[in-house]
Amino acid sequence: MELCIQQLSKKYSNGVQALDNINLTIPAGMFGLLGPNGAGKSSLMRTLATLQDADSGNALFDGLNISENKDQIRRLLGYLPQDFGLYPKVTAYDLLEHFAILKGLENRSQRKAVVEALLHQTNLYDVRNKQLGGFSGGMRQRFGIAQALLGDPRLIIVDEPTAGLDPEERVRFHNLLSDIGTEKIVILSTHIVEDVADLCNHMAIINKGRVILTGEPLDLVERIQGKIWKKFIEKSELAHYKSAYQLISSRLTSGRTLIHVYADDQPDHEFSAVQGNLEDVYFSAMTGLLSAPQATQATARLMPATAAPITT
Ligand code: ADP
Repeated sequence: MELCIQQLSKKYSNGVQALDNINLTIPAGMFGLLGPNGAGKSSLMRTLATLQDADSGNALFDGLNISENKDQIRRLLGYLPQDFGLYPKVTAYDLLEHFAILKGLENRSQRKAVVEALLHQTNLYDVRNKQLGGFSGGMRQRFGIAQALLGDPRLIIVDEPTAGLDPEERVRFHNLLSDIGTEKIVILSTHIVEDVADLCNHMAIINKGRVILTGEPLDLVERIQGKIWKKFIEKSELAHYKSAYQLISSRLTSGRTLIHVYADDQPDHEFSAVQGNLEDVYFSAMTGLLSAPQATQATARLMPATAAPITT
């Protein structure tokens, strides 16, 4: 099973280039699409979900061209959009059953079994007769996954599902996603690095409509080992460190400013080594210090324009 995205580009009528020659190969399993707000994640997700067309390029699901076979793809697809409305006065059971009918589950007893199984799977069975208007953010997202899983889809797209969830609900939602199965492609778009670190065996980072890094999270973390250094500084010194070092992140920790810099060797004796994690990978990529691995660059070279690292 494979989703192959080739040279996908999209410019909106207001002139924004939301997708700029995206090339990605996505195997079965959980794939994390990570990037800041405005990177183009939703534009890509909507294109893959057949809801909008790209200007150029292709997306092939097991060889099937998505934009040319929308009906067929929709039968294989489960989609949880970033924003979705729910009828507030309808119960979870009734709405899920309604979606099941729309998905073509005509046999009443089969439908009941599927709907009940999904409500159990998403931990909503006990609240199945409650109106959706009273659901918390986490319950809504779990309901969103339940409807996305109707019809046993092979391609599942979830767009920013954990934004706004409290930590407990996020863990619960992560557990739910990780149980979906390895015999499907699950694309998780997010701006939260931990979502990808916790769940995904493959990932890409996109920014300004371009893929700036792709690979397996564990390999990418391995690539930066020995290169990340930390130091506590005064907030007023930040500008100096930004210009003097390859600073990848700064944050307040216990009221003090902690910086991480990227360097092959210890910058000076006041810096200490850090075990780099996926967040350091993300910030290194976003500052242009880490670019697409050799294999991807080689693949990209075969195509006219490359998935180049950002330089700004
Ligand atoms: P993300 O999901 O990563 O936040 P989006 O795909 O929503 O990114 O947006 C990418 C860029 O395209 C942003 O600059 C956004 O403002 C713009 N954009 C998104 N949708 C539209 C639209 N329908 N019309 C015009 N511009 C859009």
